[in-house]
Amino acid sequence: MDNCIFCKIASGQIPSKKVHEDEDLIAFHDINPAAPVHVLIVPKQHIPTLADCTEQHSALLGKMMLLAPRLAQQLGCGYEADGGDNGSGGFKTLFNTGPDGGQEVYHLHLHVIGGPRPWRGQR
Ligand code: 5GP
Ligand code: ZN
Repeated sequence: MDNCIFCKIASGQIPSKKVHEDEDLIAFHDINPAAPVHVLIVPKQHIPTLADCTEQHSALLGKMMLLAPRLAQQLGCGYEADGGDNGSGGFKTLFNTGPDGGQEVYHLHLHVIGGPRPWRGQR
């Protein structure tokens, strides 16, 4: 997509602080972080929203979801389980969809937001 900012980031036309790249996905730091750690996991393929996904995107969505905890761990905000409900760390994963969902960039992305609280706006 010619005028899509995340397509331009995925193709390297616009720089980003990259934390991951493979054949399907790129992940980079959000330019306006809501918390100490805030990265976006973005498919290289242009898909506007989660609502545009179909059965054929299942594997891609699964890959995005599985990357989130790995990146959180790598960036120091992973969830440390203790076998009960007294674990520590952790992060939020978020897809915004459409105007009422607060979506600003119409290229699918998964927010991974974490780090010690308080966070900006307590999102
Ligand atoms: P949305 O509201 O669409 O779910 O989130 C879009 C996110 O993309 C926002 O958190 C915003 O800060 C981030 N963003 C917008 N433009 C850029 C950019 O050019 N570079 C980076 N790294 N993040 C961006
Ligand atoms: Zn795009």
